[in-house]
Amino acid sequence: MVNEKFEVFSGPMASGKTRAAIQRANELERLGLSVVCLKPDFELRDNGLNSRNGLQRSAIGVQSLGRAATLKEVELADAVIIDELFFFNGKLIDNTVDTTSDWLSAGKLLVATTLDYSAMGELMSVYERIVDEHHPRIIQCLEAECRNHDEVVQATRTQIIEQATGCIIREGLSELVPEDPNTPIYEYRPVCLDCFTT
Ligand SMILES: [Zn+2]
Repeated sequence: MVNEKFEVFSGPMASGKTRAAIQRANELERLGLSVVCLKPDFELRDNGLNSRNGLQRSAIGVQSLGRAATLKEVELADAVIIDELFFFNGKLIDNTVDTTSDWLSAGKLLVATTLDYSAMGELMSVYERIVDEHHPRIIQCLEAECRNHDEVVQATRTQIIEQATGCIIREGLSELVPEDPNTPIYEYRPVCLDCFTT
């Protein structure tokens, strides 16, 4: 059974997840809910939430959801929006699942954005755990296009290309690839399933 109190916007990179979450946050506010937005503080792209088409909202950068739970504004919020949930992975996974459980038990509405698949083709581990444990409503974001075709083809996967060689890398990397944003080694590209697998 779907938990209507937990909404997950999933999809590949550039598929409109953050925009959908910002629009949902604004809508919840119009309905009279107090809303707080969280994002991983090790994600360096910007301050706050910024969608590719220019929508913005302020957000609190946090190291873990457990840390976020100690903040007054999170405690008081009716709805917690979590951008890029998949960053709270690895040794943070249990903390991520437990904290979201606590928030749901406290009656909060949760909205999260996350990649569903890694560039290695596996489900992201946080996504998998959250789906198993909480049965959220999954909303697929399909704005990204695969650019390998003349016609419009929806992208559903994220591909990693090694910039120096132009090679597509499909195995051997972890689901999150840490790199220096000033000297990126890899390029990330949304592609369709056919282009991803062949
Ligand atoms: Zn394609």
